[in-house]
Amino acid sequence: MAAGLRVVLLGPPGAGKGTQAKFLQEHYGACQISTGDILRKAVAEQTPLGKEASGYINRGALVPDDLIVNLVAERLKENDCAPGFILDGFPRTIPQAQSLDEILKKMGMVLNGVLAVQVPQKVIVERLAGRRTCKGCGALYHLAFDPPKAVAVCDRCGGELVQRDDDREETIVARLKVYDTQTAPLVDYYRERNLLRSVDGVGTVDDIRNRIIQALGDVK
Ligand code: AMP
Repeated sequence: MAAGLRVVLLGPPGAGKGTQAKFLQEHYGACQISTGDILRKAVAEQTPLGKEASGYINRGALVPDDLIVNLVAERLKENDCAPGFILDGFPRTIPQAQSLDEILKKMGMVLNGVLAVQVPQKVIVERLAGRRTCKGCGALYHLAFDPPKAVAVCDRCGGELVQRDDDREETIVARLKVYDTQTAPLVDYYRERNLLRSVDGVGTVDDIRNRIIQALGDVK
């Protein structure tokens, strides 16, 4: 069995999965696979995948499972994922979770943990509305909780900070509904497999990071 971190970050949009996944990637030397980032890049580059996915993303719906599953299977084979991986935003449906089990089985691996980051809905809306992303390097900021030094400019690369189209209030509501109906059942799916570790996602970025490391304690 391959060593290393092989985890899923599970939680509603705005739970802080992206921020924490970027940190875990550095801390554990594992790769971060964010299906949302991959799709947004494909949309920006107007690839066939991007053209097919953009309508779903803009209305806050999920992209069909078959478009996502192969993409993750290929990404997992890349060299930077050999020491381990953190899945952020995948799986998002029970069929995706079943496909992931099969993909990993073929690779001779199993997951060693699923972190469910828990955040109340009120906090989520506040977080998503203030979220900004660097167009250049993908760094994440929050206007109130983690503001950049200069307005709309990335501290790290000087890139422009923008709001994701799907972080507008009307789309946020749709995404939360999709989470409740299609993604939340994964909590039970992974609990039944003894993989679930719950983490309180309210607090500072550092607080949540420490809780995650503690929750992962025996994984590596
Ligand atoms: P995220 O950045 O994870 O919030 O994803 C942004 C959007 O990309 C979602 O609202 C979906 O439209 C799409 N998306 C990302 N990951 C998936 C996935 N695993 N399955 C289906 N759609 C996805």
